[in-house]
Amino acid sequence: MAKKHEPKTEKEWKENLTSDEYRILREKGTERPFSGKYLGNKEKGVYVCAGCGNELFSSDAKFDFGGWPSFRYLLSRDKIKLKQDRSRGMDRTEVICSNCGSHLGHMFDDGTPPTGQRFCINSASLRFKKSE
Ligand code: FE
Repeated sequence: MAKKHEPKTEKEWKENLTSDEYRILREKGTERPFSGKYLGNKEKGVYVCAGCGNELFSSDAKFDFGGWPSFRYLLSRDKIKLKQDRSRGMDRTEVICSNCGSHLGHMFDDGTPPTGQRFCINSASLRFKKSE
């Protein structure tokens, strides 16, 4: 897990993220379906938080499901926090980076084996680190 550090200021977030990343990570935005850079990525490696480098998902957990990168399980449960999200007339569970508080995506309980959970994550909220 990335080292804990002082929370970034809004100015620092803006300097370190693209405008799309800022809108998604810091303003709980969602990228357009099928537009994200990691949707079709099949390479072996680790997906980390684009905001802080917190290691979130192994490529082994990734699978194809709809318009956003989807993962069956986390590297460990303490990587994220879950929060009820009733915005946009839906009742969803928001996935937040436990280290930097950035918005990552949503979690759905729609029965994906082995955990029954599906983490639906914006590509813009992730960076991919390819295995050596
Ligand atoms: Fe983070």
